[in-house]
Amino acid sequence: MKQIKIALIGNPNCGKTTMFNDLTGSNQYVGNWPGVTVEKKEGGLKGHDDVIITDLPGIYSLSPYTLEEVVSRNYLLQNDVDGVLNLVDGSNIERNLYLTTQVMEMGYPVTIALNMIDIVRKNGDKIDTAKLAVELGCEIVETSALQGEGTGEAAEKAIKAVGGAAPKYMRFCSEVEGALTAIAREAGNKVHGMSERWLLVKLFERDKKIADALGLSEGEQAKIEEIVAACEEALDDDAESIITNERYNYIGELMSNAVVKGHTGLTISDKIDSIVTNRFLALPIFAIIMFLVYYIAVETIGTVVTDFTNDTLFGEWIQPWVQEHMEAAECEDWLVSLVVDGIIGGIGAPIGFAPQMAIVFLLLSFLEDCGYMARVAFIMDRFFRQFGMSGKSFIPLLISAGCGVPGIMASRTIENETDRRLTIMTTTFIPCGAKLPVIALLSGAIMGGDWYMAPIMYFVGFFAVITACIILKKTELFAGDPAPFVMELPPYHLPAAKNVLLHTWERVAGFLKKAGTIIFLCCVVMWFLASFGIDEGSVAMVDTEKSFVAYIGNGLAPIFAPLGFDSWQAV
Ligand code: GDP
Ligand code: MG
Repeated sequence: MKQIKIALIGNPNCGKTTMFNDLTGSNQYVGNWPGVTVEKKEGGLKGHDDVIITDLPGIYSLSPYTLEEVVSRNYLLQNDVDGVLNLVDGSNIERNLYLTTQVMEMGYPVTIALNMIDIVRKNGDKIDTAKLAVELGCEIVETSALQGEGTGEAAEKAIKAVGGAAPKYMRFCSEVEGALTAIAREAGNKVHGMSERWLLVKLFERDKKIADALGLSEGEQAKIEEIVAACEEALDDDAESIITNERYNYIGELMSNAVVKGHTGLTISDKIDSIVTNRFLALPIFAIIMFLVYYIAVETIGTVVTDFTNDTLFGEWIQPWVQEHMEAAECEDWLVSLVVDGIIGGIGAPIGFAPQMAIVFLLLSFLEDCGYMARVAFIMDRFFRQFGMSGKSFIPLLISAGCGVPGIMASRTIENETDRRLTIMTTTFIPCGAKLPVIALLSGAIMGGDWYMAPIMYFVGFFAVITACIILKKTELFAGDPAPFVMELPPYHLPAAKNVLLHTWERVAGFLKKAGTIIFLCCVVMWFLASFGIDEGSVAMVDTEKSFVAYIGNGLAPIFAPLGFDSWQAV
């Protein structure tokens, strides 16, 4: 059976992953800020065994400037994709069609899903889909990926288009068209094939990556340079700007023919933003929101649940019950001790934190999906900049509070290489979910376990990040100003409950997995060290005072003495 591959391509935040999940029935991460998808994901189309859908990172154009752009365009160039489903965010159609004009040139059969149609309707915009379809020369289906409207139909159309004619592409002005023809002559059959038109335009734009990939000789490249320079001279602009302007002119014409904006002036999102991202109010509002998150999670609901889990569920119910039953079954003493004290006692503590964490994650997921976190990145930019970081580092830092691994992954959305490396190197200083119980335990022993310890640990972590950045910035490798902040702020919306719950679950599950593996192993090792020691020349179960732990603890005691520990047994 021949497989059909359809690639989803579109701007960041236009709903590709939501559409992908709807079409394939999978549960990929959906976030309300640009750059959530950083790697391509594949999945089978529901009800069609022979169709593979690929979710590509969101991009604004097919230039070679960001990692996402390179990933997406290489995928289209190298893989035998059979068709493209181009998602266009209808509520931001002008900007989204820019990519469409480029995708059309790649030569694959294109179908357009005019997504976010629910927002278009709510805004009162009128898009003449039929007219647009005729002018662009491809099928257009109105969809709302969030509500599952039209998605199936869009996929069907994309499948039907496979093997059919390539879409038509826009014409540039006669000077540029002349230059493209001349370049085609120079490059000869090196640009023949599928994406010929696109490759020619890229050569015109002096895309070095493409020139190298095509294997053009020095001589050929020099001839092409001559052609491009002559055209620039004639139009009095640089090649890339010429192409960009022509694309926007073309889109402008499409717009005036097929789109009527329903409202002008400030949208609700704009109004909220005028307060939330206000010069003076932004930081206080952010501080209050973060304080509320931790207050709810740690002080009120969280503590009740955690106390219940630790003291009642584990301490009064599970431990005695297991002990009783194991003793009744006449298990060896050491086995009872291992299971009851070592494993249940050890894992119980971090698991006791899970409900608290779940509440933090739930609130943060809500803030992410409604669009607030994207604003925070913007707000924090002014502040971060002083330490040589970009505001975009905020999202990796935030995610690292859950787990460092996705935190580092999230830094891929930072285009600037130096900014990205800086973030990768420092982001794990933020205590992750699994570190927090350990920190709480130690701080409890050292300073008394007050409720504000957890937030303080985040500030300490954050302080470590800032200090490390200041230090790193002094080195040659990281010198220089962070790249200017350019990020589209998505409109606010009420998050889908499914998304929020899914994110929360993913993060809690990640934590529980660690608790079940690493912490489990550590518990067993600790239990062994605390319960066994050398007794009359051989290893045996002994009292704590004679155990290995006591041995090690007494050795380390001088180091910990200033903190108030006499010896390890004090713990
Ligand atoms: P991607 O960056 O293109 O993968 O976009 P996502 O799938 O991550 O979606 C970005 C945001 O837009 C999420 O908050 C989605 O819930 C939301 N979204 C996606 N499709 C629609 C839609 O058709 N209508 C509305 N109102 N929201 C949508
Ligand atoms: Mg995505």
